[in-house]
Amino acid sequence: MAVKTHIVKGDTVMVRRGKERGKRGTVKAVFPREGVATVEGVNVVKRHTKQGTRSQNMGGAAQTGGILEKEAALPLSVLQYVCPKCNAPSRLRHQHGAQGAQRVCSRCGEPAREAAKGA
Ligand SMILES: [Zn+2]
Repeated sequence: MAVKTHIVKGDTVMVRRGKERGKRGTVKAVFPREGVATVEGVNVVKRHTKQGTRSQNMGGAAQTGGILEKEAALPLSVLQYVCPKCNAPSRLRHQHGAQGAQRVCSRCGEPAREAAKGA
């Protein structure tokens, strides 16, 4: 079941729960079907790779071996949007204007940046 969220790629978010609680980062990718997202620098997991092995997810790029750091996905339910103007965790609401629905901060009314095209 998809989680209803206003968070899109490129948003700044804060982690509300779990061991990464309080950390902030920029959303790298959202996976609505899974209800998860990856956040830059948050929930980083280290994967040890053997020399000469090729990662299936790296487009065939040769790995030199060593430690590969990668953000593990977090449930969208633990991510809170951070308004760049308030610089605080905030809710987003939809405001319907001439150009259609727009995401705005419920605190200050600052419009959130548009969702990245082709994300
Ligand atoms: Zn705001």
